Amino acid sequence: MKVEMNKWTDDFPEAMKEITILCVEDESDARDKLSGFLGKNFGVVYSASDGIEGLEVFKSEKPDIIITDIQMPLMNGLEMAEEIRKENADVPIIITTGYDDEKYLVGSIDIGAMKYIKKPVDIKKLRSLLSEVALNIIQQKEKAKKDRLLRLVMENSAEFYLITDLEKIYYMNTAFLRYIGYEDMAELGTRTAVLEGVNILKDGSGYCGADLKSWLKKAVDGNLDEAVLKMQGAGKLKSEAKNFLVRLNRVEEEHSVLVSMVDISTLETASAIGETPAMVDPLTGVVNRQKFLEELDRELYRVQRYTRPLTLILFDIDGFSEINERYGRQVGDSIIKEIAQLVRQNVRVVDTFARYGGEEFIILAPETDINGGFQLADKIRGKIERQQFPHVGRVTCSFGVTEYVLLQSRDLIIKTADDALYMAKSRGRNRVEKVTFL
Ligand code: GH3
Ligand code: MG
Ligand code: MG
Repeated sequence: MKVEMNKWTDDFPEAMKEITILCVEDESDARDKLSGFLGKNFGVVYSASDGIEGLEVFKSEKPDIIITDIQMPLMNGLEMAEEIRKENADVPIIITTGYDDEKYLVGSIDIGAMKYIKKPVDIKKLRSLLSEVALNIIQQKEKAKKDRLLRLVMENSAEFYLITDLEKIYYMNTAFLRYIGYEDMAELGTRTAVLEGVNILKDGSGYCGADLKSWLKKAVDGNLDEAVLKMQGAGKLKSEAKNFLVRLNRVEEEHSVLVSMVDISTLETASAIGETPAMVDPLTGVVNRQKFLEELDRELYRVQRYTRPLTLILFDIDGFSEINERYGRQVGDSIIKEIAQLVRQNVRVVDTFARYGGEEFIILAPETDINGGFQLADKIRGKIERQQFPHVGRVTCSFGVTEYVLLQSRDLIIKTADDALYMAKSRGRNRVEKVTFL
């Protein structure tokens, strides 16, 4: 907002009441006249009768504007101005100069934001000078207030904000800091390497397996404005993968980008990255059989093209009918849920983990051969075996592992995994068996 100067020929606007002034003058008549006029128009007027007193008042009261005489006992106005500058380089100082002040002014004119007005002070001139100076201060104060409020909003927002040029982090709000496992900017520093700890599991283009830093770089290079990401935090939030709506705004003058992210997991968002709620199993929150089969088709297409290893792990809870009978289906359900959670934390972000049937789960592990798959299955088997489940205590699972062989159909690879699972069941349960077709 810009106020026209000529609008204030009479009184100063209300906003002036928020401004405080220090008036330093050794002659009591001139001081009373000046502070009388100032008192009518400004919030608080302090007065002092020499430079030393003026400096003390300045230090304790921090007035917005200073009006000072030059010739005064103890410390003259220019010496005081110089001292004030050491405390605050920007506070406006208005100097009232008499006829014989020229000798003082030589060589002292350049003490920052200084204005001069001749003595005896013409109130009209002073009024217009003060208008100009005070308007500036009011605008600065308003801006500072706006900045403070804006920061307050950003700091208390659940939305994430980041300003970076991808070399340095200039700003990150508290919500985002927590998400990447930091308490404050001081702890974080400025290096963007920390963004490498945040995993991007998926984005709308099907791109996955990146970290936030490389994803952002790609997004900025590609002039992307908006995207939906499935992202996994760092630190304590590492295991929580959630969907975020990301917006990128280039801040050209700063050669950086403002990144904002809002958690949209609770909304109907999965669809934005190709996961309709119908594809997620409601009990466990992992993808269902239908979605799994789609992922498997996509992976099979990829491995056939690029001859990469691919492993399938099918597993089933041991003696689950008995658990249901003894403890009830509700307890049974809670075990299914807990196992799903445990497994989810132990597969890689590129793996697809699904509830395949009632108490049967399946993992698709790209870039993994049968030995890697066996190790993964056995690690999960051990974790489940060691977990204490409420009511039931120990629960075990049996695992069948198989690796894709060229030209194997989707049904055949699943059947082979099932054969391996059957083998694990018949060989005593709570074990992993591997079978390769051919
Ligand atoms: P095995 O060691 O051979 O796997 O024995 P099992 O008793 O687990 O045998 P099976 O896998 O054939 O039986 C699975 C049982 O799990 C049968 C079914 O009633 C129960 N079940 C299937 N889906 C659910 C479910 O969503 N919740 C609960 N509570 N039980 C389920
Ligand atoms: Mg079963
Ligand atoms: Mg079973």
